[in-house]
Amino acid sequence: MMNAAFAELGLDWRYVKLPVPPERFAETVRALPGSGYRGANVTIPHKLAAHELADELTQSARAIGAANTLVFEKGRIVADNTDAGGLLDALGQPVPDTALVLGAGGAGRAAVWALREAGAQVVVWNRTAERAKELSAEMGVRHAERPEPADLVVNATSVGLAGEAAPDTLGLADLPAPEVLVDLVYGGEPTPLSRWASARGARVVEGLEVLVRQGARSLKRWTGQPAPLEVMRRAAAG
Ligand code: NAP
Repeated sequence: MMNAAFAELGLDWRYVKLPVPPERFAETVRALPGSGYRGANVTIPHKLAAHELADELTQSARAIGAANTLVFEKGRIVADNTDAGGLLDALGQPVPDTALVLGAGGAGRAAVWALREAGAQVVVWNRTAERAKELSAEMGVRHAERPEPADLVVNATSVGLAGEAAPDTLGLADLPAPEVLVDLVYGGEPTPLSRWASARGARVVEGLEVLVRQGARSLKRWTGQPAPLEVMRRAAAG
């Protein structure tokens, strides 16, 4: 997706995968600017470490406590979190009044913060209730013991990745479908949850679109240019 975007923008840049063990993360990242890197995306399990090693944090990275994007500028490492803005970009306007976020991991944290900032009344549910309780206290939102109806449901758990019966596993099967469903889980096929929601008339925002939108924000930070969304969508869809 990124390499297709660089080519479209006429940039002789490369996006490469660097598998790094956690104990080598900080020294590897600090060496990147000297090797010509302009930035990086960071994923599991390094999002917290990326936030910790940065010289500067954007508002979203600070509030979420995790970073998925690093920008190397003027000898400094700036950490950003584009998962939050990417979700809002994919969702579009207006943001629904009430939102239920399922999951309290990295993606759940970004979703709760983004939706709260956008003015939604956010409720968070998590399989391990204690984590939902902690996240809700930290972000000043409500947590629920079990999923409850909302205008928007965001699946920020990893349920559905392996094709599980997500509506049952996530306790949604007996609830009315939301107006809008965002399933952050992505793959080649519509997920079980997105099939469940669209069969009940919900508007579904696919995880792939969120992936493209968070990537578009990262790319803009590195290059200063608007991202070629259509090219990125086509490349991401394979
Ligand atoms: P994470 O930090 O490992 O969190 C995983 C979450 O899933 C936790 O809340 C966990 O609950 C929950 N979970 C796992 N198995 C479950 C089950 N059987 N039933 C109920 N809940 C379960 O992972 P993450 O980084 O937040 O990512 C979550 C998902 O979002 C992944 O599928 C990832 O690929 C996707 N994602 C997509 C995008 C995008 O751009 N589309 C961006 C970021 C992430 P417990 O606390 O109880 O373990």
